[in-house]
Amino acid sequence: MMSYNMDFLAASLVLLVLILYHFLRRKRLRNVNNRIFEILILVGILDIVFDIITTILMCRADGKLVVLTKLSLTFFYILQDIISVAPLFYTQSLRDVPTEKIKKSIVFWSVPAVILGIVIVTNYWTGIFFYFDEAGLYHKGTYYLTMYIFALVYVTILAISSVVYYKELGFAKFTVIWEFMLIEGICVLIQAMWPRMLMTGFGIGLSITVLYLTLNNPYGFTDNLTGVFDKSSFDRWMQEQIIRKNDINLITVDLYKLKRINKVFGQSFGDKVLIFVTQIMQQIMESEHIFRITGNRFLIITNSLTDYEKVRNSLLRFFKEDMRIDGETLHFPAIICGITDAAKLGESDVLLQYVEYLASLSPDTNDTILIQDDERTMRGFRYEEEVERFLNTAIEHDLFEVQYQLIYSTETGDYVTMEALSRLRHPNLGPISPEVFISVAERSGQIADIGYLQFRRVCRFIHEHEEIMDKIEKVKFNLSPLELLKQGQSKMLINVIREFDLPFSFFQFEITETVATEYSDNLYRVVSEFINNGIGLSLDDFGSGYANLNTVLKLPFSSIKIDRSLLSGICEDKQVAVFYQNIVSILQNMGYDIISEGVETREQVELLSGWGVDMLQGYYFAKPLDEKELLQTLFQKEK
Ligand code: C2E
Ligand code: CA
Ligand code: CA
Repeated sequence: MMSYNMDFLAASLVLLVLILYHFLRRKRLRNVNNRIFEILILVGILDIVFDIITTILMCRADGKLVVLTKLSLTFFYILQDIISVAPLFYTQSLRDVPTEKIKKSIVFWSVPAVILGIVIVTNYWTGIFFYFDEAGLYHKGTYYLTMYIFALVYVTILAISSVVYYKELGFAKFTVIWEFMLIEGICVLIQAMWPRMLMTGFGIGLSITVLYLTLNNPYGFTDNLTGVFDKSSFDRWMQEQIIRKNDINLITVDLYKLKRINKVFGQSFGDKVLIFVTQIMQQIMESEHIFRITGNRFLIITNSLTDYEKVRNSLLRFFKEDMRIDGETLHFPAIICGITDAAKLGESDVLLQYVEYLASLSPDTNDTILIQDDERTMRGFRYEEEVERFLNTAIEHDLFEVQYQLIYSTETGDYVTMEALSRLRHPNLGPISPEVFISVAERSGQIADIGYLQFRRVCRFIHEHEEIMDKIEKVKFNLSPLELLKQGQSKMLINVIREFDLPFSFFQFEITETVATEYSDNLYRVVSEFINNGIGLSLDDFGSGYANLNTVLKLPFSSIKIDRSLLSGICEDKQVAVFYQNIVSILQNMGYDIISEGVETREQVELLSGWGVDMLQGYYFAKPLDEKELLQTLFQKEK
């Protein structure tokens, strides 16, 4: 009687049971690939179990229990049949193609396996693979090699298809498939040489472990804090959905207050809030597809339109109410964006950019608001995409222009400074608003390049027309937060002034209130560099957001520009007028020069002059002018 070494089988059985446990316990994406993987583990376990049972029966029972041995061996053969084709199905499910295509190819390739399965069952009577004689002893049948040949053929098909579908699989999946085959191959080889080792089962255990570690590890795709899926699993899942043209309606939740909560209550409380909110979302959602794609943005997938509406409404209700966490009552609003039929966006990256775009449409509120995708938002998004593409060309060929808006001094009754404003014209779309191209460039990281080009243009212009410096005292140039904080940018700007041999004191950089309020050492360093060289600083858009006066005061601004939005009410609303007037006097007492922005009417001019505002900027005095118009305006009196 042969004695078999079953240690390897026992070890791989333990391995597979553990993997199954962890795989089922952890949240995982419900896609074809994971379902096939689940089946693969189960079949692997059964295969090893029956391998062990038949081995024991054949070695120990020795002629007794023939029917049982025969049945168990038949089962084992059937499992071997399935195990031979399963890796091919698994590979098919990894392809980035529509689900239908995968299903079709699986059905096609399972036909031979089903036929073989039937033949295996009939072996009970025909004995073509194996049979037991009257004494109950095991014998190989005439066609006992069929199983090996069958397995070999399927491995060959697997190898060929991994090459044929290389493009749809990608390098990472391709290598894993080959690793899988290599491990299996080595184990089968060892078993062929030393049959007593019973290595095939071990090979199955090892190769499934490799899949678990690489492509099917649910721990690798979930967020540690909240337990929901992370960004990488979203990318992978979404790409599949889009390619498979599945209907998806998604909702994103932006917890835009999270940063504030972290600041005020501390990071660990912020974590608690995140966990609480995730739990609520999981309760609202029946399906498990919730992803955390950035620190404070969650993405929820709903399958039907009815589900979408239900979830959306529940989320709105939840975020509109105060929540109680750890004894604190919290107003924790969110921006909720909805996109129906998300597959239309074509790529998961584009989809996320669209989400970003939708969220950016949210007005400055302190409330929960809903922004849904429609034709208009889609058009806006496509427009910005086009703008982003065009910006590359515009930077490369320096297609920008600068216009200058003159600013009037109430003291001298003449223009004292001017603001440089960027302009860009698209050959088909016409002029692009700076609000649009600046914010697109900020998002895409092109802003520093644009700022540099534009600043050079301004300096060159002044260098060529130095007489401008006799007429006005300063030129103001806008700096975005990102270019301001970009490493080396401040030095580059300073060097441009040097290159054109212009006085530093002629320049003033305008920084918007929102940046100034995000005070940081880095910001302070950059700003000091300007000041030390004699370049002025001005606070822009004062009153448009939530100025943190404390941090504003820390930065050495010489002038403050009050935002246009505050000006609009001063003629109609007494309260607004009183407010505006008081801001002016407070800031003036603190030593700042005050500029009022957006002055359009005579009435406004009279009020503002009466309140002692130093400078006025607006269409009433001058619109932004191109270089030629500016020179004409400044020097016309003399001609
Ligand atoms: P801003 O810095 O607040 O510039 C003032 C804006 O108000 C300009 O819009 C100007 O044309 C407009 N404006 C001036 N007077 C009036 C008025 O009486 N009524 C009204 N309704 N509007 C008036 P513009 O040129 O469209 O620029 C928009 C924004 O784009 C600027 O706002 C600035 O934040 C940004 N921007 C423009 N050029 C640059 C640039 O070169 N770099 C950076 N970083 N940002 C820029
Ligand atoms: Ca400005
Ligand atoms: Ca402004």
